[in-house]
Amino acid sequence: MIVVLSKGISGHDKEMVRIYLKDRGFAIREQRFGEDEIIGASGKGVVDVRELGLLPGVERVASTSRPYELASRETRAEDTIVTVGNVKIGGSRITIIAGPCAVESKDQIMETAARVRESGAVMLRGGAYKPRTSPYAFQGLGMRGLEFMKAAGEQYGMPIVTEVVSPETAVQMKDLADMFQIGARNMQNFELLKKAGSLGKPVLLKRGPSATIEEWLLSAEYLLASGLRDVVFCERGIRTFETYTRNTLDISAIPVIKSLSHLPVIVDPSHAVGIRAKVSAAALAAIAAGADGLTVEVHPRPDEALSDGPQSLYPEQFEKLMRDVEALSPVVGKELLRTPRPHHHAVFGAGPSGGAGADAVFFDAGAPVAFSGESGAYAEQALMRAFGDEAARLQTDGFKPVFDAVLDGSASAGVIPVENSLAGSVHENYDLFVRYPDIAMVGELKLRIVHCLIADERADIDSIGVIRSHPQGFAQCKEFLDRHPAWILEPYNNTATAVASIVRDGAVKVAAIAGEAAARAHGLKVLKEGIETNPLNYTRFAIIARRAGDKAPVPPSLGSIKPTKASFVFSLPNSNEPGSLFSCLKIMSERGINLSKLESCPIQGKPWEYLFYVDVSVPDSAEVFDEVLAELKTRTREFYFLGAYRAAV
Ligand code: PEP
Ligand code: MN
Repeated sequence: MIVVLSKGISGHDKEMVRIYLKDRGFAIREQRFGEDEIIGASGKGVVDVRELGLLPGVERVASTSRPYELASRETRAEDTIVTVGNVKIGGSRITIIAGPCAVESKDQIMETAARVRESGAVMLRGGAYKPRTSPYAFQGLGMRGLEFMKAAGEQYGMPIVTEVVSPETAVQMKDLADMFQIGARNMQNFELLKKAGSLGKPVLLKRGPSATIEEWLLSAEYLLASGLRDVVFCERGIRTFETYTRNTLDISAIPVIKSLSHLPVIVDPSHAVGIRAKVSAAALAAIAAGADGLTVEVHPRPDEALSDGPQSLYPEQFEKLMRDVEALSPVVGKELLRTPRPHHHAVFGAGPSGGAGADAVFFDAGAPVAFSGESGAYAEQALMRAFGDEAARLQTDGFKPVFDAVLDGSASAGVIPVENSLAGSVHENYDLFVRYPDIAMVGELKLRIVHCLIADERADIDSIGVIRSHPQGFAQCKEFLDRHPAWILEPYNNTATAVASIVRDGAVKVAAIAGEAAARAHGLKVLKEGIETNPLNYTRFAIIARRAGDKAPVPPSLGSIKPTKASFVFSLPNSNEPGSLFSCLKIMSERGINLSKLESCPIQGKPWEYLFYVDVSVPDSAEVFDEVLAELKTRTREFYFLGAYRAAV
């Protein structure tokens, strides 16, 4: 049983709680757990939990039915987000760690770090001390290896995770490692767990090859009971009768751990399967099953690797895996964290063509990020994916105020929808881009839209008579709505606003169509989930920021990564002239520039004249792109460059 004490509890009240528990036959231990001060009570004591909960200074009592307490979801319902340097693990993000099995030389770790960072890994792995099955196998470079790894992590802006094999070396390694890995063979080395738990470094706790889930949770409990908060589970395959693969990846452990514990769980597909060609498939399965990330072995020349070469990916294979993970993430309602963020609002500049070497431009780190709508809106979810769950937000009523806030600096950036995969472009926002030449599109993000029918706690589906939502919400749930022809549909500006209106009106016979986050934000109930007609329903959001001089900034999540996609809008000088659009397209096709979007939209007040919305790939050569843009400007009447950014898959 865990007694969580109120913040600022007096010494007297704390003593009363101690006496209360001891008198009833409990052994007690006191510790801090993150922000919380807690008293753990164990033994065969008997207590009235409600009475205990009413004692002065007691915030709540978690009486767990499990042998592990601090690791249990019963103690803490919300997901723990683990912080390692500038990287976070858990919640709605997918975090990828990559690197070689072992640090072999300074050059090898530097080269690997450069390659995995380029593909979007946010943390670097590598063993300096290697627990090998054979005493004659390469044992690692020790502290020298760790120093090389630290240098590589610093050079490429990645925190490092490395294995600790003994309590003594853990102390020596403390100042260089950002996260300790406790390896499979050491999962039940309790002295090591206690020492590692007391040093305050985040720990990646691998599952022992023959450990049950409960044993694994109890090992985490050792770390937590030693005062640590930041623990991440890592499933890396268990030993079964199967010998084809090195181990058997226990996919089911992922949802099981997620339900039993609040701690994040990532997967190591490399040690699980042990065969390079099978690693990526296992990695994707892990993400599909709900893993919060991966740790993957990558080596620039696996054939020369001193350990685990056969299971190490070539950098090119890792690049492909990252793209696949990025494509899969929105399906499971998550976002791939691509690059560590130096500051969550830091924005770097790049020339309009995305040329490398452009000056860095930092935006106001103190200013919030703007979105339109109520809390729980899809745009807010997109914002949290791009800037982190804890990013400061500015809510506005409409899209124009988002542009205004970014322009006048009251917001450092904004997040607006530009296109839905079923309903098409959000013309209002393209229009705003044209009217706000000082605002650039600096990033994009795709969010899977899962609509829910949301109502008051007392409502049930048969008593509902009115449905409120954005018109797109109605359109995207047409088949479901058609099954209830008597329902009256009331359009709202925003799906989350429709949800808020139910609370405001205290309505019981009204339901809204919106995302689950909106139901949570407004304390309402989900009557039915996934009511959209087509599950392949995605909305593409643009991240916008203010241009600094002639530089279009790129967003924080990209750091210095080169933009791969650009958007612009143009109109033609004379749309009656044959081939005028073709001549523009030809400029791009001749330079090998891929067109991923071309849409025409009538210009208001000018019948039969059109604006074209265009998305293109950015070529490697900045000069080529600058030439293309210059030529396009001569062939078009109006030309608006919205921005260059890293494409979401
Ligand atoms: C490793 O990550 O290099 C390693 C040795 O893993 P495990 O402890 O899972 O075998
Ligand atoms: Mn290895």
